[in-house]
Amino acid sequence: MDSNGMSSGYADIIREIEKLKVEKEEIENRISKLEAQLDRKPDETAHLEASQCCSNVQTVLDGHRSSSNGLTPEMIYRYSRHLLLPDFGVEAQLNLARSSILVIGAGGLGSPVALYLASCGVGCLGIVDDDVVELNNLHRQVIHAEAYVGKAKVKSAVAACRAINSLIKLVEHNESLRASNALDIISKYDIVVDATDNLPSRYMISDCCVLLDKPLISGAALGLEGQLTVYHHKGGPCYRCLFPTPPPTAACQRCSDSGVLGVVPGVIGCLQALEAIKVASGIGETLSGRMLIFDALSSRIRIVKIRGRSLQCVACGENAELTQQKFRSFDYECFTQSPMSDRVISLSIFSTLVYESARISARLYKDKINEHEEHVLLDVRPAHHFRITAIPGSINLPLSVLVENISSIDSALKAAVPEASGEAASLYVVCRRGNDSQRAVECLRKNGFPLAKDIIGGLEAWSRDVDPSFPIY
Ligand SMILES: [Zn+2]
Repeated sequence: MDSNGMSSGYADIIREIEKLKVEKEEIENRISKLEAQLDRKPDETAHLEASQCCSNVQTVLDGHRSSSNGLTPEMIYRYSRHLLLPDFGVEAQLNLARSSILVIGAGGLGSPVALYLASCGVGCLGIVDDDVVELNNLHRQVIHAEAYVGKAKVKSAVAACRAINSLIKLVEHNESLRASNALDIISKYDIVVDATDNLPSRYMISDCCVLLDKPLISGAALGLEGQLTVYHHKGGPCYRCLFPTPPPTAACQRCSDSGVLGVVPGVIGCLQALEAIKVASGIGETLSGRMLIFDALSSRIRIVKIRGRSLQCVACGENAELTQQKFRSFDYECFTQSPMSDRVISLSIFSTLVYESARISARLYKDKINEHEEHVLLDVRPAHHFRITAIPGSINLPLSVLVENISSIDSALKAAVPEASGEAASLYVVCRRGNDSQRAVECLRKNGFPLAKDIIGGLEAWSRDVDPSFPIY
């Protein structure tokens, strides 16, 4: 299937159209913002600079004609369905308007959290994220629109929130939250929502909330399951009380590797927003000391009691060793043996000595095809990945069952060349990104296939360097 010339020209046109669409969207945004300014006094601008403090938000209520209960006529009308609730009412709404909440992560969890917190009228809403919107985010990260693909998630999320509620203050933190800046950023808010998806961030945010004495609403969603709880709130445990030592790296999966049903983070994010609203407004009973576990396939929700605060906890225990100074220099990635960012780590198993003989670039592999070299291409991804897309003619033998099926490779190699020729077929191995294929080649070389080679960078490299029409996922 050689359609390079045709497909690259086609792809260029598609890219140009997408670029123009983004520009059109930006111009329309600018027009609507300028139009809004015509109708609004300068001091009513909703956006706050990141350096400004959000604690004890009063500005929302100041400068507006408020009724005797402290709510402005617009607030009474806008939040009337809250005010009609006997268990919520004016007091809880005012508490919300005075609160400031930081949402860490503008992804699958952060999307519903930010949308609901903005619409329900928290006084100040901050969002931290350093990522950009990608097309494969949109099935679950419902705050972002197609026009923002390639743009900063924080900008997209804040624009969406501003479009819903111009009364609240919105703060963009277009940076990644690290031990070096977390104390400064989190200290500006009353309540923290952890909407990240990795283990080092989870420990870091919990530690920071303990140090600054902030309640933390923590959620997680992966595959078809999700869970949430509230840490460090009214004497409840912190994350370290429950998990003093990190689980083994293999147990920590991510959406980009394991997949996630889009609506699952949506459900958990909505529940996180609910917990944040309860903490901010003072109504109801939060999930402090309890964990909610959601199973999408059976539609089952369980709430389990979790361990209370540990007196031995190094963060919040009686002889806690954690200080702000120690926190700033603590290496959370080293502690958990996993990275904070979603970026893929490229393995390099082979020494320079065997590198040449054990690996081949996608382009060189394409040359071998063009030269009609007799070969077998083994795809070692799981079978459900192989069903998404595959290079035509490749054979699927997942890495997890490679050893017990190694004899089938022999037969495939024999079948690839005419018996009379006396020649042997080459063996190439491919996977999604070029990590598992190295593991497979290492195993094959030890098991009677010393000439096996893996394709560097896997199918992503194939799509990037050889066939741009080949889908990536
Ligand atoms: Zn603790």
